[in-house]
Amino acid sequence: MRTSVYMEELDAFSYREAIAGGHRPVIIPVGSIEQHGPHLPLNVDVLLSRAVSGEVAGQVRGIVAPPITYGYKSQQRSGGGNHLAGTTSLDGGTLIEIARTLVHEFARHGVSRLVFLNGHFENYQFLYEGVDLALRDLERAGAAVPTVMLLSYWDFVDEPTIEALYPEGFPGWDVEHGGVLETSLMLHLHPHLVDMAAASDDPPAVLPPYDVLPVKADRTPPSGCLSPAGAATAEKGRILLDAVREAMVPALTAELGLAVPAPAGTR
Ligand SMILES: [Zn+2]
Repeated sequence: MRTSVYMEELDAFSYREAIAGGHRPVIIPVGSIEQHGPHLPLNVDVLLSRAVSGEVAGQVRGIVAPPITYGYKSQQRSGGGNHLAGTTSLDGGTLIEIARTLVHEFARHGVSRLVFLNGHFENYQFLYEGVDLALRDLERAGAAVPTVMLLSYWDFVDEPTIEALYPEGFPGWDVEHGGVLETSLMLHLHPHLVDMAAASDDPPAVLPPYDVLPVKADRTPPSGCLSPAGAATAEKGRILLDAVREAMVPALTAELGLAVPAPAGTR
């Protein structure tokens, strides 16, 4: 039997054996193809949601499904805006249908615990809607209804970690686009994909508390980043990843009724 936490690395027989009984959670990373400034690649949200999924899956005996690579449209106040070339997005209805279809597919496999682990701010409500519609479909059909968790990984960074990593003040997760969080995690996990010499150190973007369409392109800083990345380090990335994993594992364990993982060092 082939073993891996990543579903696509398993052959179909090993996958079926791994999910037999339906108890192991399947985690679907959800990303985007979105500009992240001059220092980061377009697939940051895919890479980070997949890496966090892998970390967590390793502790809860989970299986990481292939990621949803594209995400909902970048918004000017949280991702620079969808007018920027490179950013390649789905209409909301498309993302809803992808989420709905994947719930149906994993339910058909017999999976009873499913997690959408989001790495792109704008995706969340569309994933929620897709899951809600799928569960309604399954209920109406009298089929087994899985438990589905939705989460965005940055919501698991605790206050003491935020205070330690943002001594100058925390700008907010919405403008943490191409900033310290994502850049530090990338420096820790995929350093060869980060060009710190190109990173913008512009101060956090100041945007009005509303949207206007068509977007006024000059409101997005030229770098495309909404907060500075200069203070990012690989060590901060390690601290962030540890904080996220340590908070996410107990949440999944409790909500999905999983066996409590063995303490570190005894696995
Ligand atoms: Zn991002």
